Amino acid sequence: MIQGKNDFSHSEIWSDCLKYLKERVPAQTFNTWFEPIQSLSITEKELFLQVPNKFFYDWVDSHYSDILNKALETVTGFNLKIKYTILLSQDNIKATAPVIDESEKSKPVVTVKSSVKKTGVIEKGTKINKNYTFSNFVEGKSNQFAKAAAMAVANSPGRTSFNPLVLYGGTGLGKTHLLQAVGNEIINNNRVNKVVYLSSDTFTLDFIASIQKNKSTDFSTYYRNVDMLLLDDIQFFQGKESTQEQFFHIFNSLYQHHKQIVLTTDKNPMELKGLQERLLSRFKSGLNVDIQPPDLETRIAILQKKAEIDKLDIPYDVIEMLASKIKSNIRELEGAMIRLLAYSSLLRVDINLSLTKKVLNEIVGSKNYANTTVSIEHIQEIIINNYNVTLDMIVGKGRKKEVAEARMTAMYFARQFTTLSLKSIGLYFGGRDHSTVVHACKWVEKKYSESADFSRKINFLKSELDEDL
Ligand code: ADP
Ligand code: MG
Repeated sequence: MIQGKNDFSHSEIWSDCLKYLKERVPAQTFNTWFEPIQSLSITEKELFLQVPNKFFYDWVDSHYSDILNKALETVTGFNLKIKYTILLSQDNIKATAPVIDESEKSKPVVTVKSSVKKTGVIEKGTKINKNYTFSNFVEGKSNQFAKAAAMAVANSPGRTSFNPLVLYGGTGLGKTHLLQAVGNEIINNNRVNKVVYLSSDTFTLDFIASIQKNKSTDFSTYYRNVDMLLLDDIQFFQGKESTQEQFFHIFNSLYQHHKQIVLTTDKNPMELKGLQERLLSRFKSGLNVDIQPPDLETRIAILQKKAEIDKLDIPYDVIEMLASKIKSNIRELEGAMIRLLAYSSLLRVDINLSLTKKVLNEIVGSKNYANTTVSIEHIQEIIINNYNVTLDMIVGKGRKKEVAEARMTAMYFARQFTTLSLKSIGLYFGGRDHSTVVHACKWVEKKYSESADFSRKINFLKSELDEDL
């Protein structure tokens, strides 16, 4: 029989464990992996801890279970077991099942927000991520319109001409985030009674199951009675004739009753092969908006936002380096950041530029990230030798065409071949600010793609630099 333990609450015990851990692991590890854990309760045999997500659980369990057990034993003097639970998508619902329950993941679940009586519930379908909100969605030129349209339908569901709203764009660009942001907004404001979010393959599987159980009427009745349908990745409907048929009737019924429908797809719906013409023409009657890959500033802002949400302390120059090397997919960008955190914890080192380079190397694998021995002075020297300019002219204010081109090209190379931040590069060029450097890089990239002469020149200069790499 354990004595004495009940004299302390689980939170006191956990807070002592944290003290123990803090003295023994690097600050970065502590902040990333231990601080976000909360204690929930304690029994004679077990301490229940809550972790933010499955990834987190896997990581903590595989890397820190020894030290955690040691901490708990030292603090309590007993051999208690640690049991984890994960935070579900809504604040007021705590998962009671251990995270190890893999079956939870793929199954559509019924998530009812119990404090909100009968209104504003995600009734059926896949649970939504409470972090996918409009305020967590960073706006840039590439996604401005899509965000504005999504906010409009979230504010006046079924009452704008944006019905259906179709968001389309490449993978990892934020379609699901925006779609779920509509759902979160609706739930938080109780705007309609019954919102359903689900992916199109879940819809298809559900439909097939309903046929097998002879319940396709129930299926159809269920969806015709929702107030808002958020359907993700409708490209999965390609070639699935009877699912499309079923969806077409549900669509019409919802549409006629002014219920909001929001859909996402990876291509312009007009280019979706294998979708019935009559469905496509329904989509045309609403609003189709695309999401483009974000520019550098937006990518930086997205990573900063992520770091802020997850309370991660990541230096600005590291964020800038990640954002400038991973361009086309935000999921990959986030993946790189997670990998960086993982490395830092595993190797017990701080997150800095050299670790970032290693991680990037693994992901993108290019000598540009590894061999950055070329100095900015050397770049300037090569530019001066090949253009009719002096150093004073490059760092000065002159705007003559050749001087401007030489300066912008030098900045572009500095960006490509050194690890200097945009800000530092600007400093080397007469104290210009970082947006001037961004502009220079864009200018060079554009001209490179447009002019054969210019691209030859850049390649030649690159080969001169390459000898020193
Ligand atoms: P898609 O559905 O288009 O494939 P997701 O919506 O799943 O992409 O986005 C991938 C990841 O990128 C998500 O974690 C999402 O939160 C994040 N993301 C995408 N765009 C933004 C943005 N503008 N601001 C913040 N996070 C974003
Ligand atoms: Mg998606």
